[in-house]
This record gives sequence, C-alpha cells and structure tokens, in this order.
Amino acid sequence: MKLKRIINLFFILLFAISTIVCGKDGFSPKNAYNITKELSSGKYRGRLVGDSGNKLARDYIEDYFKSLNLKPGGDNNNYLQAFDIYVPSVTTSCYFKVYDTNGKLVKEYKYGEDFKEMTYGASISGKVSGQLKTGLRTQANIMITENISTTFENPRGYTNDLELMANGIKAMIVPGDGYLRFRSPYKLQKQYDEGIVKIYASSKILPELRNFSKKDYSFEIKSSTNVLLTKGSNVIGILEGKDRNLPPLILSAHFDHVGFDGDGVIYPGSLDNASGTGFLLECARVFSSLKQPERTIMFVAFDGEEVGLLGSKYFVENPPINLQGAECINFDMVGSPSGLPVSIIYSAKKSEFADEILNIAHSQNIPAKSNINDSSDHDSFCTNGINAVTLIQYDMSKIHTPEDTMDNVAESGFKEVYGLLYAYLSTREVYSSFINPQAPDPGLRYLLPGAGILIITTMATFYILNKCYSRE
Ligand SMILES: [Zn+2]
Repeated sequence: MKLKRIINLFFILLFAISTIVCGKDGFSPKNAYNITKELSSGKYRGRLVGDSGNKLARDYIEDYFKSLNLKPGGDNNNYLQAFDIYVPSVTTSCYFKVYDTNGKLVKEYKYGEDFKEMTYGASISGKVSGQLKTGLRTQANIMITENISTTFENPRGYTNDLELMANGIKAMIVPGDGYLRFRSPYKLQKQYDEGIVKIYASSKILPELRNFSKKDYSFEIKSSTNVLLTKGSNVIGILEGKDRNLPPLILSAHFDHVGFDGDGVIYPGSLDNASGTGFLLECARVFSSLKQPERTIMFVAFDGEEVGLLGSKYFVENPPINLQGAECINFDMVGSPSGLPVSIIYSAKKSEFADEILNIAHSQNIPAKSNINDSSDHDSFCTNGINAVTLIQYDMSKIHTPEDTMDNVAESGFKEVYGLLYAYLSTREVYSSFINPQAPDPGLRYLLPGAGILIITTMATFYILNKCYSRE
C-alpha cells in the first residue's frame, strides 16, 4: 500500500513537472487575453491619463514588469517615466434646458442621447443662459454652428473661437450625432484663459431648438469640461542584452484610453488598447523567460497616446538608453476577432522599415498589408528618425465608444500578431535560436521535449505500477 502511494505521488510529480515545462515559455494568447480583460474592467475607469483608473493600470503594468525582474527604465531607477500633459476632463454633470418666456422649464435634454459636452478648441466649463442666434436675432450669445474648423481640435479652431468670443458668443451647439457616445481627449498642448461652452447635439433636436427660438424661449447650457495640467507616466522595463553595442529593440503599446462620460458611462477600451498592452506584457513574460537576448529589448507601455502621442514623444526625446539604430514595433488594437489581416502602419517620414516588415510577412505567408497612418505611437519615433511601425488589426467599428468591450477581442487575433512579430524577430539578432526563420514558436522548443518526458514517464509509471500491483 505504501509503495503504491509513493509510486502514485512520483507519477503526479512527474506529470506536474512535465506540464510546467510544456506550458511555461510559449506565447500564451490566453494570458494576453486575461490581462486585456483585467485592464478593461470597471475599476480602471477607461484609463484616461491623469485619472485614478489610469494610475491603477500603470501600477498593474509596473508590478508585472517587477515580477518578471525586468530592469527599471524610468526616472530615478523606477519603472515610471513622468511627463506633463494637458488633458480635457469631465468632472461634474452637464445639462441643457429650455425655458419659456415666463421662465418655466419646458424641456430638459438627455445627456448622451440628445447632447453632450465637447472638449475640442477653446472649450470651457461653465453655465451659459441666453438666446439662440438664428435669423434676425443676431445679438444672441448661443449659436448653432457647422463650421468644421471650429468643431475640431486644430489651430484654426482656436482662431475661430477667439473671433466668435469677440462677437459675444458664449456657447455653441454643434450638430454631432456620431459624438454623443464617442470620446477623444485629443488636445493640442495649449492653455487658454477664456473660451466657449460647447456641446454636441443630436440632429433630431435641431428643428425643435429652432422652433423654441422662434417663440423667444431661452436656453441654459452647462458643460463640465476642463483642461487640466497633470502628469502622465510611461512604464518602462528593460531586458538587457549580451551585447550593449547592438542597438536596442523596442516593443511598445499605449495603455491609456479615453475615460468616461459626464454621466459615468465608462469607455473600456478593450481593443484600444488594453489589447496591445496585454499583448506587450505577454511578450515581456515570454522573452524574459528565455535565455538572455543578444540585444537589449525595451518593453514600453505609453501613456497619453489618446491626447496626441505625448508619452511616446516624451520617451523618444528622453530615452533611458541610446536609441541610435533602434527599431520599434508598436502594438495598437491587436487581438481583434474581425479576421482582418494584420496591418503594418507607418509614417511617411520613415517608410522603408514598413516595407521590410511587409516583405518578411509575405515571405512567411502571413497575411498582412501596410497602410500609411501617423495616428499611433510609431509616429513619434519616425519623427525623430527611428525606424518604427505599429501592428494593428484595423477594426474601427467600435473605436472610442462604450461598445469597445471584451466582445471586441479574441485570442486568435493575438496569435496572428505574434506570428508576425516572431517572423520579424527571426530576422534580427535577438536570440541566437531565433535567427533561423523556420524555427518553431519558442514555446515548441520546450513543448516537444516536455511532451517526450510526459510520454516516457507515463509509460514507465504504468509499467512499474503494473508490476507492483500484479505482485500484491
Ligand atoms: Zn484610441
């Protein structure tokens, strides 16, 4: 009986060891998926730079890098690299009300359905009461505009805003059906002392507004948007290479997203870009579990991307190690279940690198295409003459809406992107065993011997058990 128990224990132990060996080092789409799910959850509040939820996400990534024993690449021997940033924030409630000539409330519009605050240009927080500037009523202080440059974030918009303010405009209604459950904290890094209270309105309510205006009704608009000066933090973990003279390889993804609406509706940003962050952290886990790479690999989670690529810009201008000759592969919106091929997006400022990656993909029969697009963090590198591309699965159907949830992410998408990353790494001096482009997934190098051990031990144990039991 005792012998039987010992043999059983031996068998279980061997089985456990083989399982651990088998599963330890291969790229796990499941792990990438689970991290994505975690960072998409409610407590991270949509990860807007400067917000408490963003700080929680930052801490999560920092702890992950720490657990992998990556070398800190941030300020003062920490993982965090801080930078200043102006971010539009929504802190209190908004409303949009209409009163008749006796001052009686006749209509209160619904936030997120009929209207919503707008953060572009010289948008300010505040309350404006008055009449609508329509037809003959030219002296009113509230206007409906469809002037595009005024309704987007650009220098021309600021100039227009200043002109309107000089003409007595205090609030602006912008028709914007697509913006009532859409967010972008994109902001030119500019501070202003005064501005205009701006809201988007559903086109459905515009005829009614004009009607109310004809009856001399008055309007009251309160918006809660404010631009705050805060701190963003990139999270940087370094896996030091054997040869410090080789230029480093940077793998990156932005972890920030667009936050939440004034009524508390959260934008989880699962595909954009909890997914890229989950993928990055899983890559960090895989590569740090292999033997020391030939060249240094830096894992960087950027903050402030949604505001205007500000984290990556700061990183490139203040790198922890020399970036001369470096290459960056950035991940933004990977893991889409859409079945779209991986897109290699690149900046016109530096396009040869994208051609090279596309050639690698084609030579390995990986479905991929390239697109010119400067709206992700690779652009900050290209602006500074460093080779960089973003790998993306171009599914924009739910971008920056509350519907960008885990339904928008699948393990199969991660696998495809890893296939392309692996093909690229195989052509670079990163791991000596990676140089062979035909080499299997790094996990297979462990999986095959692991499976061998498992089969042999199982057979041996059955043989021994059989002998023992038949003796009893
Ligand atoms: Zn985004």
